[in-house]
Amino acid sequence: MKTINIGICGLGTVGAGVVNVMQRNAEAIAARSGRPLAITHIGARRDNPDCDTGLAKVSRDIFAVVNDPEVDIVVELIGGYEPALELVMQAINNGKHVVTANKALIAVHGNEIFAAAEAKAVSVCFEAAVAGGIPIIKSLREGLAANSVEWLAGIINGTGNYILTEMRDKGRDFADVLVDAQALGYAEADPTFDVEGIDAAHKLVILASLAFGMPLNFDACFTEGISAIAPQDVVFAGELGYRIKHLGIARKTEQGVELRVHPTLIPQRRLIANVDGVMNAVLVKGDAVGPTLYYGPGAGAEPTASSVIADIVDLLRTIDASPAARAPHLGFASDFLKALPAIPVSEISAAYYLRISAADKPGVLSHITQILSDSGISIEALLQKEASHDIDAVKSANSHANLLNVPIVLITDITLESRLTAAVSGIEALDTVEGKVTFIRVESLG
Ligand code: NAP
Repeated sequence: MKTINIGICGLGTVGAGVVNVMQRNAEAIAARSGRPLAITHIGARRDNPDCDTGLAKVSRDIFAVVNDPEVDIVVELIGGYEPALELVMQAINNGKHVVTANKALIAVHGNEIFAAAEAKAVSVCFEAAVAGGIPIIKSLREGLAANSVEWLAGIINGTGNYILTEMRDKGRDFADVLVDAQALGYAEADPTFDVEGIDAAHKLVILASLAFGMPLNFDACFTEGISAIAPQDVVFAGELGYRIKHLGIARKTEQGVELRVHPTLIPQRRLIANVDGVMNAVLVKGDAVGPTLYYGPGAGAEPTASSVIADIVDLLRTIDASPAARAPHLGFASDFLKALPAIPVSEISAAYYLRISAADKPGVLSHITQILSDSGISIEALLQKEASHDIDAVKSANSHANLLNVPIVLITDITLESRLTAAVSGIEALDTVEGKVTFIRVESLG
């Protein structure tokens, strides 16, 4: 039986992890694949001291790998859009299967990549692109194939989850924890993609397409980061029985699909609320199976290699089969993929956490509740803090009345977001309210 030759492009964290795990578990991987395989060619601009490239040929030009006629499967582990897109397209054009861990590439260019792959009768596998070591792509594409998926919600960025966990456990503020996360290597020097939700949005649109059978639509995803979360919101959420998590949420409704990444209060009794540190988890609600939860490491050299190699094994098992025998890229045959209208965030319905800084005098609360009531919004829970509760939070003097401000914290019933934001504008216009009202969406995930 012909040995299947693997070419790896990029020998960074994940590239080295793949080489090491492939070497360590070579026998079991070949046995699971049912045929021999070997890493024969690695494209790397420099050597990586974390791995031994063994007998593989090493080229400084990554394109030498995709143009090597002996390579059957190209593993793209360089990241980013370019030259990764050119590299993957060239591999496909050369008739090679591709495995990638690149969520940005798949989320933004996946539709054209999959179309090109189908035309060439090759497969592009991307298990490692979402939630690192958790086999969530395979679960959605294959394990849940009987279900109509109603919604999914995931903690799919470990950096953001680490920051929120530290803020809660140690009462630290966002900026302070971010510096630590960078020192520990959890956050990039430029943390924008992680903390502003762009990385999570890349992963969410991939999950949503697999869940609902629609083409990838990155532009439809609403993103809001965690940099505005204050330590006091973490504390107040806890007092109300919630935890704040940076969630990616995809929900199918009669109107279309919601795709949104934002800080979210979730009841602390939910399992997913207890996913801490850099760990990831995805909760999927199928109509037949009910809620299912997938938990594990969302990053790291070997967890990510675990997913990359699972894709390689999958490819090996069907490499001689007709393309129709392989699982479709997005879990639905491409002719059956159907674009769904994207629901703007103003038209979603959720409950909301509001924190209002208001003058500590009689009648203020009733003005606020009146505005909410006039908008048809009921209050589910309310915390009115004493001026002495948190002196940092209340030390600013109310400019109009020269009074101390106190935080008024409440959770509304489920309401339309546009209605909520109109009511919030009314509250912010009150003389007795200072500054912007903090509002955070609340999901029961029940
Ligand atoms: P990394 O450590 O930065 O490694 C990237 C590698 O690609 C390096 O060897 C780099 O070479 C090489 N490279 C980058 N651009 C190149 C170019 N234009 N030409 C040639 N070589 C180039 O990144 P990583 O963490 O391994 O991530 C790789 C992919 O896996 C990314 O798509 C990432 O999103 C995904 N991923 C990573 C993790 C994780 O835990 N790290 C988890 C899930 C998914 P130089 O060293 O010379 O720059």
